[in-house]
This record gives sequence, C-alpha cells and structure tokens, in this order.
Amino acid sequence: MTRIDLHCHSTASDGTLTPAQLVTAGAQAGLDVMAITDHDTTGGWAEAEAARPEGMCLVRGAELSCRWFGGEPWPIALHLLAYLFDPAEPRLAADLTALRRDREQRAEKIVDKLRADGVPISWDEVRGYAAGGSVGRPHIAQALIRAGLVRTTDEAFASRWLGSRYFVPKADLDVFEAVRAVRAAGGVPVFAHPRATVRGRVVPDRLIAELADAGLFGLEADHEDHTPEQRAHVRALAEDLGLVVTGSSDFHGTHKRVQLGAFTTAPEAYEKIVSSATGVPVLG
Ligand code: AMP
Ligand code: FE
Ligand code: FE
Ligand code: ZN
Repeated sequence: MTRIDLHCHSTASDGTLTPAQLVTAGAQAGLDVMAITDHDTTGGWAEAEAARPEGMCLVRGAELSCRWFGGEPWPIALHLLAYLFDPAEPRLAADLTALRRDREQRAEKIVDKLRADGVPISWDEVRGYAAGGSVGRPHIAQALIRAGLVRTTDEAFASRWLGSRYFVPKADLDVFEAVRAVRAAGGVPVFAHPRATVRGRVVPDRLIAELADAGLFGLEADHEDHTPEQRAHVRALAEDLGLVVTGSSDFHGTHKRVQLGAFTTAPEAYEKIVSSATGVPVLG
C-alpha cells in the first residue's frame, strides 16, 4: 500500500522536527510520499531535499495563511495548502515574505499584551524558539509553558490565553488572490481542513464552489480536526465540484499529538496533483 502524507510542518514554521529530521521520520513511519508544508515559507525545502531518504518522494509545498473577506459579520481565516509551486515566482514569493514579516510583528504584539499583564516572557525568547522560521502562536505557547503558566500547547490555545484574550489577527492573503497566485506560480492549491469548526468559523460551501471556479484543485477531507461527518461532507462536496480529496496528518512534532501518516491521500488524488503542477517537480 502506498502511504502518502501531504501536510507536515518542520522547524521552518511551527513544527518541532528540523526539515532533515522530518523527512527521516517520514521514511521511518513508512511513508512513500511526504510533503513539507510549513506556514508561509519555503525555508525548509533545501534542507529537506538534502536529507531526503532514498525511496521516499518529497513534495515541496507550503500552507498559506488566507482570509475570506466576504465572511459575515467579519472575515474568516483559512489555510491553503500549495504544492509544487515555483518559489522564485515573484508575486507569490513577495506574498510569503510579507506574511512572515507580519507574523513577527503580530507575535511581538501578542507578547506585548501578555507582558502588559505581567506575564514574564519576552519577544527575544519567542523569536529564539522560532529560530529563524515563520513565527506562530505555538512559539509563544512554548514561552508560556517555560514560564509555568500553562502545561501544554493545547492549554496555551485556550480562550484565556492565545485563543482569545491575547489573540491578535494576522495579515492574511485574500483567499481568491492566493489561489490565483499559487496557480500563476505553477502550483496546486488545496484547501486545508476546510470544515474544522474546532478551529473557529468555517466558510460556507458556496464559497468553496467559487474558489473551485477560481482555480482551487482539492479539499483536505481526512484530518484530525474533522469529525467523521465533516469528512464525509467534504468528500461529497469535492465530488460535486470535481475537486480532488486529500488526507493528511498536519504533523507538528511535539506541538501536537498527531503522528506522521495518521491520515493519508489516495494515490489517484496524488497523481492528479502532481500532473497539474508545473512549478517544481516531485523529488525522488
Ligand atoms: P498561528 O499560525 O500563529 O495563528 O497559530 C496557529 C497554529 O497553531 C496552527 O498552525 C495550528 O497548527 C497550531 N495550533 C492551533 N491550535 C493548537 C493547539 N490547540 N495545539 C497545538 N497547536 C495548535
Ligand atoms: Fe501550525
Ligand atoms: Fe492549517
Ligand atoms: Zn498545517
């Protein structure tokens, strides 16, 4: 059986394995294909490529922070997986740079809010945990754990901490522009965990239909943040709209409990993604 996991994070964003450790762990977990999809960066690609174990294929990708600005009463944040795009395509590269810069400013604002309430953490500490990668709330969670205020990342995402009280929004990309930018860079856009109400509000099906018209290629159905009903709903919607269905772990190392290969993508869907991409090839 071919095991394909198309959504994994490294220390280039908020995972806890380095890109080299990630690809090694993927092969050890028995994956035949794995994708590196760090938040808003291709910064882990080169290291993952250099360390790719023989026999395991590597799909280079990213997970883009997006928003649907038509959401009522306010915009809805969502994540777009982008596979096999050309990292040198200027528009998308500039978008990624802007997203990462905003992540730093936003994390610093969150740290300032926490400090204003007497929480003994610093931006330098948080920046150190991100170690040059895309900064995210899991890095702030690490500081809260170190300071003894919470025990786990999950606790740090509760509403009294990073979930709401100390939440600051990111400057996300307009999701339609992101879909077009990924396509223009030869990449293949797949909507990550589109129905995950545990993460907050989700977009209506009619928006997903509009995104399909704009060039969206697939929907991630099998994901730990979807209930069995949500997975079935996403599958049916994909079928209606002629989109491919993926499944993936969204592995984050020890920042989450989910393991590599916990959910996988069917070979037929994977082949469609690969044959639609013109940005960079699969490695291996
Ligand atoms: P950010 O991108 O900075 O807004 O932070 C959100 C990231 O934190 C997402 O990539 C999630 O994977 C991760 N995240 C969200 N909730 C949790 C949680 N309860 N435990 C661990 N990681 C989480
Ligand atoms: Fe993450
Ligand atoms: Fe995500
Ligand atoms: Zn992810």
